[in-house]
Amino acid sequence: MIDYKLHIPGPVNVAPETYQAMTTPVMGHRSNDFVELYQACQPNLKKLFQTEDPVFLSTSSAWGVMEGAVRNLSRKKVLCCMCGAFSDKWLDVSLRCGKQADGLQVDWGNHIDPEELRKRLSSGEYDLVTLVHNETSCGMMNPLEEIMAVLREFPEVISVIDTVSSFSVVPIPKDEWGIDVILTGSQKALAMPPGLALLCVSERAFKRAEEVEGRGYYFDFLEFRKNHEKGMTPSTPVIPLIHGLNHTLNKIFDEGVEARHSRHAYLNQMVHDWVAEKGFQLLPEKQFASKSLTCVRNNLEIDLAGFVNKLREERKISIDGGYGKMKGKTFRISNMGDETTETMTHLLGQMDEVMTDFMPS
Ligand SMILES: *Cc1c(COP(=O)(O)O)cnc(C)c1O
Repeated sequence: MIDYKLHIPGPVNVAPETYQAMTTPVMGHRSNDFVELYQACQPNLKKLFQTEDPVFLSTSSAWGVMEGAVRNLSRKKVLCCMCGAFSDKWLDVSLRCGKQADGLQVDWGNHIDPEELRKRLSSGEYDLVTLVHNETSCGMMNPLEEIMAVLREFPEVISVIDTVSSFSVVPIPKDEWGIDVILTGSQKALAMPPGLALLCVSERAFKRAEEVEGRGYYFDFLEFRKNHEKGMTPSTPVIPLIHGLNHTLNKIFDEGVEARHSRHAYLNQMVHDWVAEKGFQLLPEKQFASKSLTCVRNNLEIDLAGFVNKLREERKISIDGGYGKMKGKTFRISNMGDETTETMTHLLGQMDEVMTDFMPS
């Protein structure tokens, strides 16, 4: 029985009203009722993505469309910007898709340097760049605006930006910055259950896809576009999550997008203040720290597994004890989704109390 509150950086806590919205009965996915639901989401999605391009709904987790983007968009060679677990994996996924691919790699916690990217792209070898905006594994947010300025210098290079844990947390003006493909998933910053991915594809990217062989079927961007024109998805979608999405979008616009951004910035700062007060350090440089989660260096060398367990067992709150090779060395706290000053104050208060048993004397 899950009797604890999720504060791990995904999946995050889902509000009862979101679950409630998902209990709306399903309908045929070729029915007018479905088309109505699909169309109802579009204006809000376009506003949120800050785009005129169509926004597609994929019944998959984010990785489905991350893999799909590579399969749809590269004929020459992919350059994968690698700065954490998800972005590192994207190189492996590209190679597994039979693509030629290289990495532009920095240590976990560091950001991708736009100058380095310019140097690598100047070779003319690459036709696709993959970038994770907010590396959830190490709580680092890349300087996307500066990176996009470099990418715009290379019109032959298509950009694919993963915003799984930053979408709706900070402004990401897709069209203004010239992002070709932007994608996100349901269970992180949007605070829905897992199983739905959203992606938005530029005209340039469609042109590229038309020239690429081996796009497959399930994630073929041209199939998405063809069905989108009818207000539908290529195959039977996860309709309950689309009901959930419609509800979530209305909620986001009721709060106001700017207010949502400010709320995330404020809650994130609360965690940063707690970190400083305890004598911990952030993993990334402050300037590149994520706004949706905090990745804390275990510089005090506390028994992290013990702390995380006790917080979950006794205080019914689940945080993360470090991703992959960072286990025990960092811990991560999410402020994504529906968190409020009250819920974050509660979290930090509980962490304070449990922490006293683990602090070096
Ligand atoms: C969680 C996450 C993913 C993978 O999402 P899945 O839903 O597991 O496919 C990809 N990128 C980032 C930045 C993530 O945080």
